[in-house]
Amino acid sequence: MFKAKAYSATSATSPLASTTIPRREVTEHDVQIEILFCGICRSDLHTVRNEWSEFMPTVYPCVPGHEIVGRVSKVGAAVTRFKPGDTAAVGCMVDSDRTCPECQAGLEQFCPNLILTFNSPDKHLEGVTYGGYSESVVVDEHFVLRVPANLNLAGTAPLLCAGITTYSPMRRWCVSKGEKVGVVGLGGLGHMAVKFAHTLGTHVVAFTTSPAKKEAALRLGADEVVLSRHADEMRKHAGSFDFILDAVSADHDINAYINLLRRDGNLTLVGAPAKPLAVAAFGLIMRRRSFSGSNIGGIAETQEMLDFCGTHNITADVEVIPIQKVNEAYERLLMSDVKYRFSIDMASLKSE
Ligand code: NAP
Ligand code: ZN
Repeated sequence: MFKAKAYSATSATSPLASTTIPRREVTEHDVQIEILFCGICRSDLHTVRNEWSEFMPTVYPCVPGHEIVGRVSKVGAAVTRFKPGDTAAVGCMVDSDRTCPECQAGLEQFCPNLILTFNSPDKHLEGVTYGGYSESVVVDEHFVLRVPANLNLAGTAPLLCAGITTYSPMRRWCVSKGEKVGVVGLGGLGHMAVKFAHTLGTHVVAFTTSPAKKEAALRLGADEVVLSRHADEMRKHAGSFDFILDAVSADHDINAYINLLRRDGNLTLVGAPAKPLAVAAFGLIMRRRSFSGSNIGGIAETQEMLDFCGTHNITADVEVIPIQKVNEAYERLLMSDVKYRFSIDMASLKSE
C-alpha cells in the first residue's frame, strides 16, 4: 500500500479538501496510472452531496472522479497491453465479476458485482474505492483504456463518462445519417451528444434552458437550437423526432419531449435526477413511442468510442481548472455555468 494525494469530501455538506488516501501496490494484472486530468461529472456532485441516497448512499470520505486520463507509471507482471510511459484512461468502472452473462456480453456496466471507480466496496483495501481527484490510481488492466495519440488529453478525460454515456445509446438505437435527433440539456453529456449526433450525419436539434448557449450549440454541431422554456418553439417540432437523448440533471417535464417523437420514436434518458419523473401514458401509447434508460457503456464499447473520437478528432470542450477551484466549479455546475466540462489539471495537486 502507498499513500496518494487526493481531494475528498467528509460529509454531504462539507466542501472537498486536500487529503491523502491509500492505494494498493500493483498486483499481477494491475496498471498504476499517474493522473494528468480528471473531468468533473455531475454524478460526482450528486454523490458528494448524497443526492442519490435512496439508490447508492455515499460513504465518506468520498473521493469522486471517473473521467481519468494519465500516464502509466508501473505495471504488474501479467499485464500485456500497457507499459510504463503509455497514455491510459479509466472511466466509471474499475472491476466486475467477468463471469456473469452481462460481463460475457461486454456489458460490464450491468454486472451485479460491478465495482465503480468511486463509492463502491474496495475488495483490495478496506472501505470504498476512491476516484480520480487524486494523483494516482491502480486499476486492473481490463478496465484501462487506450487513448488515440492525436487527442488533447484535457479534452479526452470527459470522454470516459460524458463521451461513452452519450455514444452508447446512439449505437444501441442505431442512430444514423438523415435522422432527426434531439439532445436535451447542454451540459457535459449533452454537448458530447451533439458532437456525436452531428458526426453520425443526423439533423441535430439542441434543447436548452440557457439562452447564452445558443450560439455555442450551433458551433458544436447543432443544426437548430430550441429554448425549451418557449412553448411555441417546442410545438413546432411536435411528432418529428426519431430519437431524443435527455441528459438533464434536475427535475423537468419529460412529456414535453416524448410528445416531440414521431411514431416508434425513442427517448433515452441518461440524466439521473434524484426525483422520479412523471410520464403521461397517452404520450407513449398513441404513437407506440418508447422511453428508455442507458448507463455508461461496456469496456469494449468505451474503447470503440475513444477510437471513433480519434478518427474524427472529437474531444470535449473543457475549461481546465486547478483542483483548488473544485468547490467553485461545483457551484457553477449547479447554475449550468460551464462550457461544457471542467477538467482538473492534476499537476495542481503537487502543491498541496
Ligand atoms: P451538467 O454538465 O450539469 O449538465 C446538465 C444540464 O442539464 C445543464 O447544463 C442544463 O442544460 C440542464 N439542466 C440543469 N438543470 C436543469 C433544470 N432544472 N431544468 C432543465 N434543464 C436543466 O451534467 P452532466 O455531467 O452532463 O450530467 C447530466 C446528468 O446525467 C446528471 O444527472 C448525471 O448524474 C447523469 N449521468 C448519467 C450517466 C449515465 O450513465 N446514465 C452518466 C453520467 C452522468 P441547459 O443549460 O442546456 O439547459
Ligand atoms: Zn460521470
